[in-house]
Amino acid sequence: MPRPIVARINVSAIRKNYLLAKKHAQLANENARAWAVVKADAYGHGLMRVANGLRECVDGFATLELEGAIRLREAGFAQPILLLEGFFDKDDLVACAEYGLTTSVHRLDQLALIGSSRLKNKISVYLKLNTGMNRLGFVAEEMERVFANIACNANIERTTLMMHFAEADGARGVDWQIAKFKEMTDGADFPVCMANSAALLTSAESVCDWVRPGIMLYGASPFVDRSAEELGLIPAMTLESKILSVQMVPAGGRVGYGGTFCAERTTRVAIVACGYADGYPRHAATGTPILVCGKRTTTVGRVSMDMLACDVTDIPEADVGSPVVLWGDGMPADEVAVAAGTISYEMFCALAKRVPIIEC
Ligand SMILES: *Cc1c(COP(=O)(O)O)cnc(C)c1O
Repeated sequence: MPRPIVARINVSAIRKNYLLAKKHAQLANENARAWAVVKADAYGHGLMRVANGLRECVDGFATLELEGAIRLREAGFAQPILLLEGFFDKDDLVACAEYGLTTSVHRLDQLALIGSSRLKNKISVYLKLNTGMNRLGFVAEEMERVFANIACNANIERTTLMMHFAEADGARGVDWQIAKFKEMTDGADFPVCMANSAALLTSAESVCDWVRPGIMLYGASPFVDRSAEELGLIPAMTLESKILSVQMVPAGGRVGYGGTFCAERTTRVAIVACGYADGYPRHAATGTPILVCGKRTTTVGRVSMDMLACDVTDIPEADVGSPVVLWGDGMPADEVAVAAGTISYEMFCALAKRVPIIEC
């Protein structure tokens, strides 16, 4: 019998979440289109699985890994494909032209390389502007040279202007970056792509021509203070396992490495076949929510490599073989993330190879 851990991926949930993202965008601009952000193996959900699930409805795929983008083309996806981090060298650029990939461009030397290379086809570019995140992109002083290059760059077919929000989910919001963007692009007549999940859910002004939802496609919330359920999102990944042992721990007994949990009363502790080598966050402290037999309880002690423990004193029906949901249906990944001092993004991406995936 295989180890009982499994990740169920609900592809139709991803499709519904995508359509919800697009609906939000189209409330602001009826012609808005939405990239499905599928970088990092579709946030751990499986690039090809997600792409196939979205095949009929998606406007385009935004990813990061050239290899994945090529795989999509070779599997027959004809939609636009955007490389969010751009190309890294001339070989990548040649591949972009060959496979019809749109690339982000964030440095002047990249524009120069596009202009001086012999390419099979012209390419479409997303010019990335740094409007305050200070990670990637052109700064205000460079814009004149950028637009001058675009105006005469014979290898560029279509240009879109893009930027990324640093605090769309936070108190400072998006308006200050949108203002900076307008200042930097004054009068330039190109399509615009700004919004991630958090922005498109909070700011109509951020929607523009294209949006780039990522996390919301996978049914998690981009906000700390608004749940996925409130936003109408359906969890796409459910990490499930089973109880493999039950221990009665007397008051004063300790559980797990370091003995960080000390029972205050006689405690029924269930040992679950899931640990950090499966991608469960090791920093999830005692008290992290977990679902056993459909009932909420909490973890106790440190997460081990292959196991974790939870309190089932008040779930008498819980026994060896009982079902456990680590996150997903009935147990929002966002709540587990908060308890572990991380975000759902990181948990999804960290799902380990050894966890079998079942599509449903
Ligand atoms: C990952 C990413 C997104 C998606 O962000 P979410 O918060 O997951 O919606 C959008 N744009 C860029 C440039 C990204 O790297």
